[in-house]
Amino acid sequence: MSNVRTRFAPSPTGFMHVGNLRTGLYAYLTAKSQGGQFVLRIEDTDQERLVEGAVDVIYRTLGRVGLEHDEGPDTGGPYGPYVQSQRLETYRPYAEQLVKEGKAYYCFCTKERLEQLHEQGFGGYDRHCRDLSQEEVGRLLDAGTPYVIRQKVPLTGSTTFQDAVFGEITIENKEIEDQVLIKADDYPTYNFANVIDDHLMNITHVVRGCEYLTSTPKYQMLYEALGWEQPTYIHLPLIMGRNEDGSTSKLAKRHGSTSFEGLVEDGYLPEVITNYIALLGWAPKDNQEVFSLQELVENFSVDRISKSPAVFDYDKLNWFNGEYIKAMSDEEFRAKAMPYYKEVFGDVEKPWEVLDTILRARLTKFKEIPGLLGFFKELPDYPTDFFVNKKSKTNLENSPKMLEAAIETLEQLPVWELEVIHEAMINLAQKLEVKNGTLLWPVRIAAAGTLVTPGGAMEILTLLGREEALDRLRAGLSELA
Ligand code: GLU
Repeated sequence: MSNVRTRFAPSPTGFMHVGNLRTGLYAYLTAKSQGGQFVLRIEDTDQERLVEGAVDVIYRTLGRVGLEHDEGPDTGGPYGPYVQSQRLETYRPYAEQLVKEGKAYYCFCTKERLEQLHEQGFGGYDRHCRDLSQEEVGRLLDAGTPYVIRQKVPLTGSTTFQDAVFGEITIENKEIEDQVLIKADDYPTYNFANVIDDHLMNITHVVRGCEYLTSTPKYQMLYEALGWEQPTYIHLPLIMGRNEDGSTSKLAKRHGSTSFEGLVEDGYLPEVITNYIALLGWAPKDNQEVFSLQELVENFSVDRISKSPAVFDYDKLNWFNGEYIKAMSDEEFRAKAMPYYKEVFGDVEKPWEVLDTILRARLTKFKEIPGLLGFFKELPDYPTDFFVNKKSKTNLENSPKMLEAAIETLEQLPVWELEVIHEAMINLAQKLEVKNGTLLWPVRIAAAGTLVTPGGAMEILTLLGREEALDRLRAGLSELA
């Protein structure tokens, strides 16, 4: 086992956005591709943003995607608790230590004062309490004045850090405000808790979205103030969506579903979503595109993460889903298709393998099944000119003849099975001295009442069953008479 340790640190705010899930996946892959450990930590210190049930969404999603954590709130581990709200007493001592060392200070500014500053157009905090005398601080504390603890950010110089993806980044210290570490309600700020926890949990590689890139100098300053070694930073590129005019902008609802659950509901298989988002910012060495989670672990490497924005392409996702469906085992296909078959056929038993075969090659999503098979449930009203087809050489004169002959032949079949129907129809076409299509086009139209069907005439007849099939052919014939 290597000493690489990564963490996924979601805030329970509701849905699992694909960007979040990608962060989790890349953190998992960064650890697992190097034989390391993957930790789940729930960052719930921002109580205002909490959404009920959101932690369950996190567990459920990770479970469905297969990102098993080695340590976390449910599995436990040596560095727990793994939920920030359960380790609140952890943070303050570090802030107090910084105060003692002159690297942080108590700030007694009221909300009103800060609001005023803001109204006056002052960006950030004016460091009003940074240089209060010891006595003044003592007096205010004794009087029970509420306060926050702020970091004393150096006023000059610059802060530089290395990011494994974005390279070296430098920011002038004067750009950074004296950030709050402990809030008036005794809660740590997100930025502070995050650094303390990453350190205490021995996290070696911090994987997160690039929206955190600008906060990283603040983290860096905290590591420096605390005298701690920094983790390796791996910031991930933005995820964009394609707009109607072809331009791209940050992925948003108007582009399509943006959460794992939304995509599952849209009919994408969890493993497809995982496979696809693995490629949003990471490029494999060769042209392979279809990866199981295990294959991702075997192939992933941080140095192939790109900093250019990735575009979430729903067409590509459809393609992936179709590929996964084609490659599925027969059993898995049947299991996933069956609920939809039942929706169409109720409890009636059908030769399901006939359906499996005609659907597998053309399905993009399983949820398309009821729509594709709707004509089985009820024969649509269709115009007689559906019988006219140039390529099959059918028209309104020969179609009734074909139907009549087909009905006569089918009525005599001893069993109603695909092979038997198939042979009978081919023989009949030969006997009538017409192309197979000339016979089968009108049969399929009368059987399905629709121009485009999954499967051909014989599969449809088979699935309809003898009685219903013959009824429909007779109905077609009477329409033409
Ligand atoms: N709790 C943060 C979020 O959900 C995680 C940021 C990080 O990975 O450090 O966005």
